[in-house]
Parts: sequence; structure tokens; C-alpha cells
Amino acid sequence: MTNPATPPRPVSQAHRVLVVEDEEALAFGVKDALEHAGFQVQVVHDGPTALDQIRTDQPELIVLDLMLPGMGGLEILGTLRKERRDVRVVILTALASESDLIQGFELGADDYMKKPFSPRELVARVEAQFRRREMDTAPPPQLELPDGISVDLARLEVHRDGNVIQLTPREGDILDYLIRNRHRVVTRDDLLLDVWHYKSANVETRTVDIHIVGLRRKVEPNPAEPTLIQTVRGKGYRWFS
Ligand code: CA
Repeated sequence: MTNPATPPRPVSQAHRVLVVEDEEALAFGVKDALEHAGFQVQVVHDGPTALDQIRTDQPELIVLDLMLPGMGGLEILGTLRKERRDVRVVILTALASESDLIQGFELGADDYMKKPFSPRELVARVEAQFRRREMDTAPPPQLELPDGISVDLARLEVHRDGNVIQLTPREGDILDYLIRNRHRVVTRDDLLLDVWHYKSANVETRTVDIHIVGLRRKVEPNPAEPTLIQTVRGKGYRWFS
């Protein structure tokens, strides 16, 4: 299911987006595209300035390059996480190594765009971040998983081996969705449409798969041989029970 297009918002209510990108031409191209779509956009070109700007202006979403002068994108994300700032993040990266992306997602990033990308595609991703799932049902109660692992979806906590591991809101949404749809195979497109709120699943991205890898590390008894979030070859994923 896709959501209907959001009506244009008055400028005073425009969502505030910060673009952190040191390639100036790219930064201003992104700014133009976002402003054209009705966002209120600020641009900064290095890590320390980005952090200052985030703390003072509190943007709702950050478009964050990973390779930046002064302080890299992952370090910025780590700092925001420590400060418990609730901000949506779309990473920009030329490298897109899986370990960087997993780390970025674990630090609370929601999505990424691999350079080069089309500004229109980026705008679509940013718009999707502002679409909210209707929370019409209460979150499932505490989940008891094999090996004494339990998950508290309301608090976004995984309890295992006496430790508490924090889930990101996105990971919580994925888990919730898989469990609610446990009677069927959930495809990547389902997740892109219903959890990431894309209008179309016709996007080339490994965001879903990489989030699943990160989620398995937290909830699976043995992440190398997942049994809870099962891969259904060529189709998608299915919750184990
Ligand atoms: Ca850069």
C-alpha cells in the first residue's frame, strides 16, 4: 500500500533539511532539488560546522555525506546518537562499503544514496522519510525468542546474555512488520513501500538487505545462520513462526 501524495505545506511549516556535503556543486544541486520540492534547506560543507548547525537549528532530516573534512559522517552520527537526537538521516556515499552502511544504519541512519545519484531520486527518498505509518495497533508485547533472547518493541530493546542492545526505530519497524506478516513471505518491495514509505519500489538499493543483516546481528541466536528472519530465496523474508 502506498500513501497518497502529501499536499504542499506552507513555507512556515516546511520540513527543515540540512545538507552536509563538501562537494559544493553537488551540495547546491541537492539544495535546489529539495527546495523545489518544498523543503527548507541549509547547506554546510564540513563535519564540525554540521554538528554546530544540527545542535542549534535542529533540522528534522540530514542528508549526510560520509567523507567530509574535519569529521566524517559516521562520527557525526555517533555523536548524535550519544546526544540522543531524534533526526532522520539519509547517507550519501561514493564508496557504499557494506560495513560502513551497516555501521551507519546502526547509528540510526535510515537510508543511503550511492553517488552518483539523481537529485529527483534523492528527493523521493527524503519525502518518504516524512511519511508516517499509521500506528493503529499497539506494538506486540515482549517477544520471547530462542536462547533466552527477548525483544521489547515498545522500548526498542533486545535483551540477550544479560545485555541490552538498542534497536534503531527503523529496525523496530522492520521487526514489527515481519511479525505482523508472519503468515506470508515479505518481499523487499513490501518493505520499501510499507516500512520505508517509498511511493514506488522501483529503486535500486540494498538498504533493505543491509538493515536485515544488522537486525539479524541483534536478534538471531546465530546471525551467521539465521533462523528467525528467514531468507526465502528469490522472494524475500519470512518470520520464523
Ligand atoms: Ca565528500
